[in-house]
Amino acid sequence: MNTTSSYLTVGGIDVDVVYKDIKNLHIGVYPPLGRVRIAAPLKLDDDAVRLAVVQRLSWIKKQQHQLQSAERQSEREMVTGESHYVWGVRMRLKVVERPGRVHVEVDSDRLLLYVPEGAERGVRAAALEQWQRQQLRERIPGSVSSWEPMIGRTVPRWSIRKMKTKWGSCNRETGHIWFNLELAKKHPDCLEYIVVHEMTHLLERSHGERFTALMDSFMPDWRARRDQLNGAPLADEKWN
Ligand SMILES: [Zn+2]
Repeated sequence: MNTTSSYLTVGGIDVDVVYKDIKNLHIGVYPPLGRVRIAAPLKLDDDAVRLAVVQRLSWIKKQQHQLQSAERQSEREMVTGESHYVWGVRMRLKVVERPGRVHVEVDSDRLLLYVPEGAERGVRAAALEQWQRQQLRERIPGSVSSWEPMIGRTVPRWSIRKMKTKWGSCNRETGHIWFNLELAKKHPDCLEYIVVHEMTHLLERSHGERFTALMDSFMPDWRARRDQLNGAPLADEKWN
């Protein structure tokens, strides 16, 4: 099937566009960050898609707000039996209460969380977050340095933070890249995609044709990785 793909920024919202041999335009808003993905018929172009997005902007923003409040409500209990994702693999949490230091360990498909007796939800959640940060800290340097020669830019500084609407961001002047903590829950291919995406922004600011061409040359399968990152849609609507 003949498909092409592009990025647009409309009304401050980043939109991923895929052109396919389909009849109608589909707009999807994806958890956990409310990423917007559009499947558009081949007969449309970026301007037509941009117009369609502008017309649906309030619907999109409403979906994103619903998504964010759903995320807040689904705050994890951090109890034994709950499932948590580690590098794209679903694991079952087992909370072990014991004296001593807080500690996280993976044992095949179980995620073991060692906490002091009576540790509250917040303590358990913070312990897991700390461990997720550590997981990212171990993987990011190797990924970044392996892409530096290919992309021809160095990343002098990077950090990890919680972000509501983005998987990554960068400061083009300083070369500083930020990674969303949530990436520790996704397959490592997704982290690598964000590394390449943000490093490509050091060469090209906007999500235009040049950006897409650079991404195609660096990482030909970036679209599949992006789709993997965004998972199943929260809301998927068909517009005629
Ligand atoms: Zn970008």
